[in-house]
Amino acid sequence: MTRIDMPTPVVAPRPGSPDGDRPARARRLARTAGRPSRGRRWADPLPWAVTITVLTLGLWALTGGLTGLGQGSGAALLAVGRLAGLLAAVAALGGLVLTARPRWLERRAGLDRLIGWHRITGMTAAFGMLVHVVATLAAAGGLTGMWGALADLLGTDWYVAALVAAILFAVVAGLSWRRLRAHLRYETWHGIHLAGYLAIALAFPHQLVAGSTFVGSAAAQWWWIALYAATAWIVLQARLGGIAAAALRPRTEVQRVIPEAPGVASLVITGPGVDDLAARPGQFVCLRVCTRDLWWQAHPYSLSAAPRPGALRLTVKALGDASARTIAVPPGTRVMLEGPYGAMTIDRADGRRVLLIGAGVGLAPMRALLEACDPGHAPLVLARAHCAADLPMAAELDALARERGGAMVPVVGARTQFPEGNPFSAEALRRNIPDLTTRAVFVCGPAPLQDAVCCALARAGVPRGRIHAERFAW
Ligand SMILES: Cc1cc2nc3c(=O)[nH]c(=O)nc-3n(C[C@H](O)[C@H](O)[C@H](O)COP(=O)(O)OP(=O)(O)OC[C@H]3O[C@@H](n4cnc5c(N)ncnc54)[C@H](O)[C@@H]3O)c2cc1C
Repeated sequence: MTRIDMPTPVVAPRPGSPDGDRPARARRLARTAGRPSRGRRWADPLPWAVTITVLTLGLWALTGGLTGLGQGSGAALLAVGRLAGLLAAVAALGGLVLTARPRWLERRAGLDRLIGWHRITGMTAAFGMLVHVVATLAAAGGLTGMWGALADLLGTDWYVAALVAAILFAVVAGLSWRRLRAHLRYETWHGIHLAGYLAIALAFPHQLVAGSTFVGSAAAQWWWIALYAATAWIVLQARLGGIAAAALRPRTEVQRVIPEAPGVASLVITGPGVDDLAARPGQFVCLRVCTRDLWWQAHPYSLSAAPRPGALRLTVKALGDASARTIAVPPGTRVMLEGPYGAMTIDRADGRRVLLIGAGVGLAPMRALLEACDPGHAPLVLARAHCAADLPMAAELDALARERGGAMVPVVGARTQFPEGNPFSAEALRRNIPDLTTRAVFVCGPAPLQDAVCCALARAGVPRGRIHAERFAW
């Protein structure tokens, strides 16, 4: 049974200093040297979202939306329906941009937040669409005549398209509900999710030719067209651009497959194309294995080592069909790499000491981050697994941590076996790591563990801005 006993010299802070005994010059250097940009300020999504929403609301208000609210129940329902429809469309477009993960946005916000916001925009769009459909039908036919109103509207082609869009959207939103999604294979869920693109495209014409906001206002029409065109451009550029760049890159291939733990192996990928990626420790790439059965799918894998000239390493756990086949490919198999993605890089530590918490294959990015640490980071690694045999790269993690004046602490065994209870509770973390609240923390592992650890860290007093996590599932 393992306890998390921290080697005190590694963690003892100098009183009053957030960085302990770290020399000021080293701290300054670490903060600035080779520090990649955290994305550009203009790429902040919040001001964009607010501006676009406010402008769209302004158009709604100026084209009779506000006055409609005070003109009896029919007009008020129509105004509410229009408002809900516009907000649903804006949220859906925003959701598309977020899930396309354009590099400038991903770098600024981080993948986890993009995925989280995508969920919020998706649910907003689904709810808005429901209100839009019910309110506009009720406005047209009254609460009892909604079916009749629907039959009348379906006399025009654009409304048939809009109805199909609404049904598709409802299916996508329904299947994204966690309980339902858990029963679907990732590929199935992803395939159905793509219908969201079709839904957004199908809904567009009825907005332009029949929406009271746009009929009669050329400015409003151009604004709406510009919004759709900009979204299409961002999505195409991010989605197809990544695939095209990977295809055009010089050849990359699997040079070696190294077994690490049961069901886990590292792929060493070599070739001139690797350097073009300019990936950094903590980032991930989407790997497309060019075999007959795998070429059509790309899966995200984190770098498990700092890239060397012409070579990088990924560590893959066989979780399903694709990952199992990926670690069984023969050397020489061609691969394509999209990316790099991810904002969980060492510059996020801002020169502070770091705590790296990894579970299972979530230790892969921690190993790469360790290589990017300098002694000033005094890296402390908590390596979680059910048993020692399941701990991939344990010896390497230990050696890398020691070389940098830090330590690796295996946390193995079932949770119930720890004499003092959950080793990742706020109390245990605070008790065992005296300088916890001054460290930058990086967390990677299965979603439930990751969420629990992030909450515990926040409860233990680590500022949220210093907790950096990357989920291994979207
Ligand atoms: C940012 C990120 C970094 C990752 N890094 C690593 C890593 O370093 N090592 C590692 O072993 N695994 C990593 N993963 C997880 C890895 O992508 C999945 O294990 C792999 O895609 C499983 O595919 P499968 O078809 O074999 O299994 P499936 O049975 O199809 O899927 C198993 C689970 O993996 C997830 N998944 C499957 N395909 C994808 C996909 N294309 N995109 C996102 N999630 C998917 C789903 O949540 C699914 O529930 C990472 C995932 C993400 C999102």
